Amino acid sequence: MATRLFANIGELTTNDPRLGDESAMGRIPNAAMVVDEQRVLWVGSSRDAPEADEFTDVDGVAVVPGFVDSHTHLVFAGERSTEFEARMSGERYDGGGILETVDATRRATRDELRSATATRAVALRKSGVTTIEIKSGYELTLEGEQRLVEIAGEFSDEVTFLGAHTVPKEFAHDREGYVDLVAGEMLTNCAPHVRWADVFCDTGVFGVDEARRVLLCARDAGLELRLHANQLGDSGGVGLAIELGCASVDHCTHVSDGDLDALSSCETVATLLPGAEFSTRTPYPSGRRFLDAGVTVALATDCNPGTSYVTNMSLIIALAVREMGMTVDEALWAVTRGGAKALRRDDLGHLGVGARADFLILDAPRAAHLAYRPGGNVVHQVFRATR
Ligand SMILES: [Zn+2]
Repeated sequence: MATRLFANIGELTTNDPRLGDESAMGRIPNAAMVVDEQRVLWVGSSRDAPEADEFTDVDGVAVVPGFVDSHTHLVFAGERSTEFEARMSGERYDGGGILETVDATRRATRDELRSATATRAVALRKSGVTTIEIKSGYELTLEGEQRLVEIAGEFSDEVTFLGAHTVPKEFAHDREGYVDLVAGEMLTNCAPHVRWADVFCDTGVFGVDEARRVLLCARDAGLELRLHANQLGDSGGVGLAIELGCASVDHCTHVSDGDLDALSSCETVATLLPGAEFSTRTPYPSGRRFLDAGVTVALATDCNPGTSYVTNMSLIIALAVREMGMTVDEALWAVTRGGAKALRRDDLGHLGVGARADFLILDAPRAAHLAYRPGGNVVHQVFRATR
């Protein structure tokens, strides 16, 4: 495999605390990095750089790890701009619009879904996302959910079964029957195609006992667990995620000090999704509060057609910094190493030796430009290791 040396990196963020300034960001000024098509082979100061087969001078700009987007709903058809406009005119979000996307997705052909997903995946990649988690949840039928996880698997190894996204119309009067279906045959159909299982556990959606039942069956089927919780209210979902050892509990807009205490002493990552608060015009959770409590925080796009049609990770960084009290470095860490931890991946989200060679060359001398120039194209080039 050919090796390639990137030299004259003005500021290299490795997220490896054993390197450079030995902070969490593992930052090295005037740095160089050697990679092959898969892995980081060497990082250090430019003056110590070893020889390699190819040489690239990046002319003093910043390099950061590729973004790990640990929460998306990328496979869907249709759009809900009307609902967005209504919300911006003062209507409140109650989670009901999901069924509209379910209708559109059920009507779409496999090729239409594949092509729509590809368009969004390309947009995310261009924004610097090198790993995308993708959930099902917009068909809510036996064959439909299987179709969605199969399509998601064409774009990612990090696929999540979310049959318990909402109760579909045909089960409106039999939610117990729907939970039976999700925890039974639907899970059995989808399990061979996914790594993860998730439930939308929230006020007016699925309760803690329903979520526990689905997740325990998923665990028995060999899946790892994550959970949507506490977006719409203090639903008890955070406690359930900790009880079941979920890799991540996502949204966490409404959390108590007790929840934060519990999160700080366990392995479960809190994934904050400010695109949802932005697009529903609801108050952001304070990232500062989570960090000060000692909680491990990830940030993700939550790309979905109803509440966060966001395909640009730099916007998420800017929102976390401007609206949630996080420093630029904390936000950058949360979309890289934090996202990797939310997916339990030690090979992603950092540029230590042995990490996957997923990295971004910025059109900026410092990574801080990701938040400092909101809406600009700060990500210049995206390198993604072969899988
Ligand atoms: Zn979500």
